[in-house]
Amino acid sequence: MTGQPQAPGLEAFLSEVRSALGSAAVLNDPDVVSGHTTDWTRRFVGHSPAVVRPRDTAGVADTIRSANRHGVELVPQGGNTGLVGGSVPTRGEVVLSLLGLDRMGEPDPISLQITCGAGVTLGALQRRVRAHGLGFGVDLAARDSCTLGGMAATNAGGIHLVRYGPMRNQVAGMEAVLGDGSVVSHLGGLDKDNTGYDLSSLLTGSEGTLGVITALRLRLRPVPTHRVLALVGCPDVAGAVELASGIRRGLGSVHAIEAVFGPAMELVERHLGRRAPIRAEGGWLLVEAAEVGRDPTDDLAGVLESGPDWVTDVAVATEDPTTTRLWEFREKLTEAIAVTGIPHKFDVSVPLPRMADFVEEVTSGLAGQFPGAQVYVFGHLGDGNVHVNVILPESTAVETAEAEPGPEELVLTLAAGFGGSISAEHGIGTAKRRYLPLVRSPEEISAFVRLKAALDPGGTMNPHVLLP
Ligand SMILES: Cc1cc2nc3c(=O)[nH]c(=O)nc-3n(C[C@H](O)[C@H](O)[C@H](O)COP(=O)(O)OP(=O)(O)OC[C@H]3O[C@@H](n4cnc5c(N)ncnc54)[C@H](O)[C@@H]3O)c2cc1C
Repeated sequence: MTGQPQAPGLEAFLSEVRSALGSAAVLNDPDVVSGHTTDWTRRFVGHSPAVVRPRDTAGVADTIRSANRHGVELVPQGGNTGLVGGSVPTRGEVVLSLLGLDRMGEPDPISLQITCGAGVTLGALQRRVRAHGLGFGVDLAARDSCTLGGMAATNAGGIHLVRYGPMRNQVAGMEAVLGDGSVVSHLGGLDKDNTGYDLSSLLTGSEGTLGVITALRLRLRPVPTHRVLALVGCPDVAGAVELASGIRRGLGSVHAIEAVFGPAMELVERHLGRRAPIRAEGGWLLVEAAEVGRDPTDDLAGVLESGPDWVTDVAVATEDPTTTRLWEFREKLTEAIAVTGIPHKFDVSVPLPRMADFVEEVTSGLAGQFPGAQVYVFGHLGDGNVHVNVILPESTAVETAEAEPGPEELVLTLAAGFGGSISAEHGIGTAKRRYLPLVRSPEEISAFVRLKAALDPGGTMNPHVLLP
């Protein structure tokens, strides 16, 4: 317990959940609970009286129905690697941990699909299907902690979105418990199935506000047998955008197009204790091509040769450990930032033709308004998505984004003004919800509110997330 005010029905709720799920499913040792109340970045620090950890869909449904009966608010939580404060109980909600839903089916080599519990981590899925020569279309650096349910709830993107699309494109079916406690299950995995509203799609990206995803039918992909990775130095952001666009037009086997700009490379080099093999003025592009049964190295070389004149210096890797060591200059950035300070994280997308102007304006605007701030820009350039990370000289942990005046207004208003999105892939969470009206009309937000009221009439599920 935290000494914070609790819902009057809390004790009755916990006792009901203990009887239904067994007492081991309710954790209230403060040391255990505290492991669930701070987010990965350490910026959002909440508090909670207890963590409920069901092992199956029936247990999730019992918990949600009981929460509704007793007026208790729930925050669904998977691996707690989300970056917008959506998985943290900022107002003393009970944490509903889905890590116990970790059953994994066998990959089906005919349909190229698999059914998994929502608590299975991405890394566990990758290991299971790799043995069958199969892979998964979404990959991200948090793979060993993030869960498939959390990835669906945030519609995660990741490094291969340029080829396979976001999490929504991987979901062939879903089982969920809605906010009213009803169980909806549509796990057949038919590729063609136009039989009414697509609830799986609606719940994907809903950030735990409409219900809890309990199982997923997921599409699998053949694992490329040949891969080639190139690190290219670019003179500036405009050059990187020009090259990325040429690669998207000319390389059918493109598997990833990632960028690291200016000081972000110095930071990750310090973190890794080694320098990138290519020096560059303005930015670095990591381009991966991959194919099944055919080596795409010549195709990648051809696209780079026909690119801008300044493409002269390129580091290439086709095998581990060289490939992994090159990837680390991009993949270890989030970690490098986390050990440097508590960041304000902005995951924005901007139309590619306007990307260079956006990066220039956002970095100069931040330097002017927040002297001494460290600003790191990098991201999934092939998708028009950059992560702007700002560490202020005196950053602190907060319970809610509203509690701290920061660079949010500047960065998000600028992204919206450029015709972009204030959240490309991380979601809105608590961190961005105040800014949703920048990119969604009153009519859209009103429709969101009505959808929430229809599926979660008690306002039980993550009530302080997403909606302004
Ligand atoms: C190092 C690092 C790299 C990352 N890279 C990327 C990246 O490249 N692309 C990207 O898109 N994201 C990235 N992320 C953030 C990303 O959102 C998460 O890693 C992942 O999608 C969240 O999964 P999780 O299980 O940790 O969810 P949590 O953090 O536990 O939850 C995230 C949200 O989903 C809700 N939720 C969780 N589980 C469920 C469920 N079963 N049903 C309903 N709601 C649920 C929560 O309430 C919360 O709102 C990265 C994070 C880290 C730490």
